[in-house]
Amino acid sequence: MEKASKGVERTAEDIAKRAYYIASAMLAEKARREADHSEDTLVKDHSPNAGKVVEINRELVEALTNMLARDKRNTCQHEETHRGGVLWEICDNCKASWADDQGGKPPWSDPPEWIAAEAAIAKAKGVA
Ligand SMILES: [Zn+2]
Repeated sequence: MEKASKGVERTAEDIAKRAYYIASAMLAEKARREADHSEDTLVKDHSPNAGKVVEINRELVEALTNMLARDKRNTCQHEETHRGGVLWEICDNCKASWADDQGGKPPWSDPPEWIAAEAAIAKAKGVA
């Protein structure tokens, strides 16, 4: 019976070792899940802010795009002109005038505000 008893002890020891092994594995799994959960929590904590930033960015791009388009529509680029006598060039649309002896009509260049707005929109869209 001693052998059987020893066998039982060994089995009990094996069971204890196995229980220890399983408990260790379970603790490791629990720790891993908690780590994953904390990462999930971090993502969840940051995602509403990230979403809000993305939403505000989208609204700003839309607002600036619309404002830029409106400003371009309402800004005369003096594309069509007529002569006023021998000295003047006059815009057909806004009646701005330029005297030949003062350099005449300057070539059109986009205002710096348009250039800055277009650059900001491109950057916000990730194009630039
Ligand atoms: Zn004009």
